[in-house]
Amino acid sequence: MKICDIREVPGIDQDVLKYMNEKNHEKVIFCSDKATQLEAIIAIHNTNLGPALGGTRMWEYNNISEATKDVLRLSRGMTYKAAITNLNLGGGKAVIIGNSNNKTKEMMKAFGQFVESQNGKYITAEDVGMTTDDMKFIYEETNHVVGKPIELGGSGDPSVITAYGVLMGMKGSAYYKWGNENLKNKKILIQGVGNVGRNLIELLIKEEADIYINDVNEEKVQKISQKYNVSIIKKDIFSSEVDIYAPCALGGTLNEQTIPKLKCAIVAGAANNQLAKEYIHDDLLSKHNIIYAPDFLINAGGLINVYSELKGFSHDQVMRKAENIFDTTIEILKKSKKDSISTQKAALKIAKDKVFKKDSV
Ligand code: NAD
Repeated sequence: MKICDIREVPGIDQDVLKYMNEKNHEKVIFCSDKATQLEAIIAIHNTNLGPALGGTRMWEYNNISEATKDVLRLSRGMTYKAAITNLNLGGGKAVIIGNSNNKTKEMMKAFGQFVESQNGKYITAEDVGMTTDDMKFIYEETNHVVGKPIELGGSGDPSVITAYGVLMGMKGSAYYKWGNENLKNKKILIQGVGNVGRNLIELLIKEEADIYINDVNEEKVQKISQKYNVSIIKKDIFSSEVDIYAPCALGGTLNEQTIPKLKCAIVAGAANNQLAKEYIHDDLLSKHNIIYAPDFLINAGGLINVYSELKGFSHDQVMRKAENIFDTTIEILKKSKKDSISTQKAALKIAKDKVFKKDSV
């Protein structure tokens, strides 16, 4: 088994290393294990507020530079997500390079040993391409893992709490926009009815909202529409006449093409990295007079859920922490107006001030 600084790996793009230096990552290591064919990168962005927590993503990256770029960006995002949510955590993330269908128990155990080698500075969890079962194998080698199965003292499916946090973000935005958090009869479009989207539908039904759904998976759409009173939107979803658009599928749906079409007053959803270009499309949304509830704030319910494993929080404590997203959303929207900056920049500024304890945007 071998560990080395990412800078020592041959063939990494200079641009990627430049990004790493600019964003001040504390430590980025390349881990390889010939016996199990594991190749992974662990990135620790910042540990000022606590150990770096962030999931492990297994993905078939085209090359080491692409994998490094992803882990650098994701780990940085975790630092600010934890900070804005007031959790005593830093930001980290790991990627395993490869097709998740080729995963083996031995490979997961080898990865667990690499996590263990960081002595708790990095805590891992589940992300794209990983399952709760994988966490079980990693846990055989290290205690520094959360998102374990419930039978091992884990916190279970995070998407329930994520959806609740998104609801709080929607309500905070609604309160700011319309002077009332009530979502009754508000037209809400949920793009992506997977784990989070489905839970969000259940919550919005209780709110008596007018729900519209869209998903590329036709089977899911049919199942959901048979179970709940929702309307299906198939085409031109971005031009839909709705009050709130909730991206709950993939990132990057807010861009030059889509933003000018939007007719909603608020964007509030669970997907990570909704803004295709963080510092351009945030301003474009403001220009179109659309309120954007920053994704890294309102989708933090999942992080709160796994954090509860470290702190031994009860379900009620987790729900209360997620409820705070309502107040934080309003705080950010007010700051955005007061400082004449986008909501994304306002949220990042608050998070960065917490991490670096100074004015630092
Ligand atoms: P999921 O895979 O269960 O659901 C995603 C859904 O989006 C699927 O039904 C898929 O068919 C659909 N989809 C994919 N591309 C689409 C497209 N172009 N248009 C419409 N639908 C499309 O994922 P999830 O766990 O529900 O997570 C949803 C989003 O929220 C992801 O971006 C994820 O990173 C983010 N997120 C999830 C959690 C969590 O707790 N699960 C926490 C934080 C952030």
